[in-house]
Amino acid sequence: MVMGKNLSCICGAPIDISSLIIEKIGEENYKIICPSSRCPLRELGFVKVIHHSNPKFEVKFSRMFKDWNVLLVGRESCDKLLRELLKQISLRLKKFLFNV
Ligand SMILES: [Zn+2]
Repeated sequence: MVMGKNLSCICGAPIDISSLIIEKIGEENYKIICPSSRCPLRELGFVKVIHHSNPKFEVKFSRMFKDWNVLLVGRESCDKLLRELLKQISLRLKKFLFNV
């Protein structure tokens, strides 16, 4: 975590690995969803799981979500926070998919 800075959704909901919702939408695809049920954006990004001996996760965050956070915390912090979140999403999916 970057000190004192956090990601948030355009609706104001704080976004971290414990709050966001990961929903399966197909064989290898997952949606990253805002925890607030009143959110106008809802979809914060997508994850595609690439199955190899060592599974890979391709995460694409929504443009609006990214731009919003760049405005709030600056590009550098936003990139750091998104990288960290991406790492945690991968870990959570790995645990979920492969029980590791
Ligand atoms: Zn939201």
